[in-house]
Amino acid sequence: PKLTDEDLNEIVTSCLYFIEVKADSKRIKIEKQLASELPRVMLDRQQIKQVLLNLLLNAIDAMGDGGGQLRVRTHRITKPGTAVWTQIEIEDSGPGISKVNLEHIFDPFFTTKHTSGEHAGTGLGLTIVHQIIQEHHGEIQVESTEGVGTTFSVNLPALPID
Ligand code: ADP
Ligand code: MG
Repeated sequence: PKLTDEDLNEIVTSCLYFIEVKADSKRIKIEKQLASELPRVMLDRQQIKQVLLNLLLNAIDAMGDGGGQLRVRTHRITKPGTAVWTQIEIEDSGPGISKVNLEHIFDPFFTTKHTSGEHAGTGLGLTIVHQIIQEHHGEIQVESTEGVGTTFSVNLPALPID
């Protein structure tokens, strides 16, 4: 990755701007809650945008055409014994992911979408997301309840303040 010192809130905002029209057309409400004093992070801006767009577009796909709620939050978090981290949460009100599928979502070519046509899925999005987060020494977590929705959390280590 090509690391630069970045403001995650600004990256989140630009990704939300990118998906706004699509979300609007599907009657999906976007709620943005950005931490006011988020530490800066060393990251590859293009790669982290790719991560967030993949997660946001998956969330929109999951909610289908019946409308929904997309909540995006940033936080500063502290982990025991280590430095400060930043967290981005992307929460949707889609159908959720079954326990069986949850074991496979990061596997290459795993998809529950059509494999051809206009809305085709490649099943590579989350594989790439996972790889990028690993290269950033970050973490990705997912929590999902069928019939309620799914939340992906991306944690990235913040720049040390000295
Ligand atoms: P693709 O989007 O091409 O199917 P991904 O790797 O991005 O591939 O996602 C893999 C699968 O994980 C999806 O096909 C879907 O079954 C599931 N998935 C990912 N994100 C969500 C979500 N927010 N809600 C429900 N299912 C999801
Ligand atoms: Mg995808």
